[in-house]
Amino acid sequence: MQSHARAVVIGGGVVGVSVLYHLAKLGWTDSVLIERKELTSGSTWHAAGLLPLFNMSYSVGQMHKYSVGLYPSLEAETGLNVGFSRVSNIRLARTPDRMDEYRYYAGVAETIGVRVDFLTPDQVKAIWPLCEVGDLIGAIQHPDDGYIQPADLTQALARGARTRGASIHRNTTVTAITKLPGGDWRVTTDQGEIICEHVVSASGNFARRTGAMVGLDVPVIPVEHQYIVTEAHPAIQARKAAGLPEMGVLRESDAGYYMREEAGGLLLGPYEKGAPCCYVDGPDPQSEYELFQEDLDRLAPHIEAAMIRVPAFGEVGVKKVYNGAIAYTPDGNPIVGPAWGVKNFWLNEGHSFGVTAAGGAGWQLAHWIVEGEPTVDMLGVDPRRFGAYASRGYLRLKNEEAYAKVFTVHYTDEERTAARPLRRTPCYDRMKALGAVFGSVFGWERPNWFAPPGYQLSETDLDKPDVLLNENHPEPAPGEPIREKWSFRRPNSFDFVGAECCHVSAHVGLQDMSAFAKMEVAGPGAEAWLEALFTNRVPRQVGKLSLTYLLTTRGGVRAEFTVYRDGPELFYLVSAGAMERHDHDYLQKALPADGSVQLRPVTTQYGVLVLAGPRSRDVLSRLTDADLSDAAFPWLTGKTIDVGAAYAKALRVNFIGELGWELHHPIEMQTYIFDQLMAAGADFQIKPFGIRAMDSLRLEKSYKLVGRELSIEYCALESGLGRFVALKKGDFLGRDALLAWRERGFANQAATLEVHGVRDADARGSEPIYLNGELVGRATSGGYGFRVAKSLALAMLRPDLARVGTELEIAILGERYRATVIPESPFDPENLVMKGG
Ligand SMILES: Cc1cc2nc3c(=O)[nH]c(=O)nc-3n(C[C@H](O)[C@H](O)[C@H](O)COP(=O)(O)OP(=O)(O)OC[C@H]3O[C@@H](n4cnc5c(N)ncnc54)[C@H](O)[C@@H]3O)c2cc1C
Repeated sequence: MQSHARAVVIGGGVVGVSVLYHLAKLGWTDSVLIERKELTSGSTWHAAGLLPLFNMSYSVGQMHKYSVGLYPSLEAETGLNVGFSRVSNIRLARTPDRMDEYRYYAGVAETIGVRVDFLTPDQVKAIWPLCEVGDLIGAIQHPDDGYIQPADLTQALARGARTRGASIHRNTTVTAITKLPGGDWRVTTDQGEIICEHVVSASGNFARRTGAMVGLDVPVIPVEHQYIVTEAHPAIQARKAAGLPEMGVLRESDAGYYMREEAGGLLLGPYEKGAPCCYVDGPDPQSEYELFQEDLDRLAPHIEAAMIRVPAFGEVGVKKVYNGAIAYTPDGNPIVGPAWGVKNFWLNEGHSFGVTAAGGAGWQLAHWIVEGEPTVDMLGVDPRRFGAYASRGYLRLKNEEAYAKVFTVHYTDEERTAARPLRRTPCYDRMKALGAVFGSVFGWERPNWFAPPGYQLSETDLDKPDVLLNENHPEPAPGEPIREKWSFRRPNSFDFVGAECCHVSAHVGLQDMSAFAKMEVAGPGAEAWLEALFTNRVPRQVGKLSLTYLLTTRGGVRAEFTVYRDGPELFYLVSAGAMERHDHDYLQKALPADGSVQLRPVTTQYGVLVLAGPRSRDVLSRLTDADLSDAAFPWLTGKTIDVGAAYAKALRVNFIGELGWELHHPIEMQTYIFDQLMAAGADFQIKPFGIRAMDSLRLEKSYKLVGRELSIEYCALESGLGRFVALKKGDFLGRDALLAWRERGFANQAATLEVHGVRDADARGSEPIYLNGELVGRATSGGYGFRVAKSLALAMLRPDLARVGTELEIAILGERYRATVIPESPFDPENLVMKGG
């Protein structure tokens, strides 16, 4: 075995081999793959080979699209047939909510260039004569989709990699991975050592073991997954004999299974409830081509449903049942990208649709490794979207939940219930008593909205087929009423959220934002370091705040921070709660080596209560003698002030465009401060408000969010961040690339749209936007603005169309609406309300 390599890939399943192939394709031909047994001997060999394009995540959608484009080309390149059967993929709908899901998805698919057709039940019957369609209300079809032979695909990728010079060592086990003083890795195997710059972990069911070699707690635990292959059926054989086309992959989402033809019979793969986690502490060291004991009882409800849908399925015997390990993460999407805390260690793990995702995941990861950035926004699969809270116990609960929910309706406002409430702020019980309906972000419980006392969904609301079939309400805790019903249209919380928005705008509101990610940056080098990293100027004076962005080396937007200068050499950084590990990891990896800057993560040390609304000053001034006037305490400044007997960093900033303060306080003082604010606010009608209200209020200010309007794919200037990008301050990360991008010209421009004629469904983000029928952009966010009484969308458009007054069309759940580009910040465009005046 060679002693040096540029990159070492651990794992010879389809995912690892695809990384090797793409690294070699990008010129890193001195890369090596190490496999402990034979290629595909992990999960890959027994996969059913389906290539579903369907996915609600932008990142995963892009990966799947790339794979389905790449795989058919491999035979011409390598001479190996990958067994790609482009038979199409049909997803059936029995309920209106399921159809809405398909309509929403079709919008997402259109914006990323994936073709989706809608079928009537009769059209389904014409393609799938063995399928009963009487109770269907429709279906979608991916004509480009189908299935493949996973082992043949892996071999073709392996040949493509080897032909370019990469090498593969089989029957070789990685036993240790050590960081050398110079920064290289030493990968120790049972056949010798390799020194390399980069290590990629693509070890499937061994992910946690491989991670542990470098001190990582990788959030992957597999779940058992079974599929059944039947004996041949005469009707299918007759179709073959008559030269009729294969009937394609059939998915009955409302019954939780997929089905396709297999060797003249049928293959049925259910996603059942109660499938257990497996290999919780990793497979046996000798494990190879391993299957588990079948458990048909668990599949019984799905088998019965399949027999009703396709009676032929019940007319033939079972030939074989495959029960294998399928890797899972808490949200069901893979983790593809850099590991946190260690440089040049990459993860490509947790793949539950790994055959489908392998091509795209290998492609993007190779770009990330070789060029330092992926070319597609990969936030949806970034390994750092989970934090240290994702313990082994958490993973067991969440991964089983993710598996069981593969086929449930994926509402945009869905909140899953397993492993909750896990991280609670001290005011959790108080918020709950006030009617909070919680959501979960990064393990934290956060009020989404507030239900009035005694509110619960009525029997009529609950007694609908959608509710029963699609579990479109969160499972209530024992003894609690059901208060929420998700929908792609306006949900039952709509009016309550509207009331919260109007209340905070008329009076005063209190919000728990303790989940914010927080970090202290200290030391003599802190100012210069932040200045060289961020787009905006670092506040010069103690007590000043600035909003700033961390760019990619290409000029896209990676992260957003509020920077508060808390001392001559002390900065307090706040960013989105869900991005904690992601944001902090970038800062930590960029630290200067000379020790002049120290980072202290303080997320769990500080709680944050947002006090906002026209009477917020009146409330706060009852608890402090600090001068809260606009003159003494202007917008974008902060001070440590008394709040009764407690204290807080009061920051004059918020995300909703109202007068107000974020009170960052020692977390152990939170309930005291909460009680003081509620008591002092009683005379001013203080009420709590939640994240959904905040989202509506921020839309009315055209405030942008990372992962929506802000992305590595959009230049910071395209996203309308010009006023936060101090081009004149000197060099900062991404500045040259930003200027070069501006020189090349922009393909997009951020805009705010008013959507006309909406009755029951506002935009949510990801809807296609048209001019004269031609796709010219996509919504990035959307919703109803209660202060301005308008349905709104934020969008990225072709730049020439982003002028105020341009008339466009937007498709919301398949219906076209007129949309007009309006000026930014439809609420209080002069910022008089929040800045005072
Ligand atoms: C029943 C079933 C049906 C499925 N059907 C589909 C489907 O239709 N479509 C789809 O897209 N997906 C499907 N999947 C999922 C798919 O099988 C996986 O997502 C995919 O195979 C994962 O590939 P991988 O390369 O990540 O992992 P694996 O194939 O498990 O490869 C990991 C490799 O790493 C090696 N390794 C681990 N540790 C070390 C070490 N220390 N040193 C050296 N080598 C090491 C292992 O030996 C193994 O070969 C199915 C899964 C199951 C269980």
